[in-house]
Amino acid sequence: SSLEDTLLAAIRTIPDYPRPGILFRDITTLLGNARAFRRAIDELVHPYAGLKIDKIAGIEARGFILGGAVAHQLSAGFVPIRKKGKLPYETVRVAYSLEYGLDEMEMHKDGVSPGEKVIVVDDLIATGGTAEAAVKLLRQIGADIVAACFVIDLPDLGGRQKLEALDVPVRTLIGYE
Ligand code: 5GP
Repeated sequence: SSLEDTLLAAIRTIPDYPRPGILFRDITTLLGNARAFRRAIDELVHPYAGLKIDKIAGIEARGFILGGAVAHQLSAGFVPIRKKGKLPYETVRVAYSLEYGLDEMEMHKDGVSPGEKVIVVDDLIATGGTAEAAVKLLRQIGADIVAACFVIDLPDLGGRQKLEALDVPVRTLIGYE
């Protein structure tokens, strides 16, 4: 079957989670499906095979799982981007807006060196606010962002355009209107 069919069949949709009216796209079923998980990772990495990618930046928490697998396949390092207060060493920090209010994300200040080529990975892009914050953090310490990759796009929410406006190429595998 096509990649798209495989992924759509492996992702579970939970209505009214975490709040009434939200359709949550649950990728734990994809992660638990060996074939679908492998196909998703293979598809995420294939444009970068043979390029020199220094680091994968994974966004907490599902971006850690996907990003770790992508890093391994590209022989790249991995750097976690986390909600504030979770990282033990000195960090750089950026504020970003949520639906209600502000939050902050952090990464270790030595997580990436200036000029390193980095790919950002998360499971899903909606408004793009989370990924935009990750891009700002990485650029604060001089990373060269090659792309931002997601399994799922919610195109109606405009995240792709937000990142492309920052000159970050965006790669997504499937979309839900
Ligand atoms: P954004 O900042 O682009 O609006 O939201 C994307 C972030 O929220 C990602 O870190 C993503 O993991 C999470 N997220 C929002 N909605 C969903 C959803 O329906 N399913 C999953 N798996 N993650 C979501």
